[in-house]
Amino acid sequence: MARKKESGALGVKYGFSLRERYVRVLKRRRARYSCPRCDTGVLKRLSVGVWSCRKCNYTFAGGAYEPVTKTGETAARIVSSASQA
Ligand SMILES: [Zn+2]
Repeated sequence: MARKKESGALGVKYGFSLRERYVRVLKRRRARYSCPRCDTGVLKRLSVGVWSCRKCNYTFAGGAYEPVTKTGETAARIVSSASQA
């Protein structure tokens, strides 16, 4: 396994798709997300996967780079449908 370099220094060797994804992740990290509880507060990323609302202090676990991920939505759907059964 090659040693991981500083991700900001991604050269040409990782190919197009990975660099594209990296840029997209950076954009998402800079993006602002509103609180799922009070809907007006701005979410702050405390650490990887942990988000907190500046207004109501609602803290929850989410995606590493965005509060709600496609995986999380799918998991929530599976959990809710399982509890209904
Ligand atoms: Zn809130």
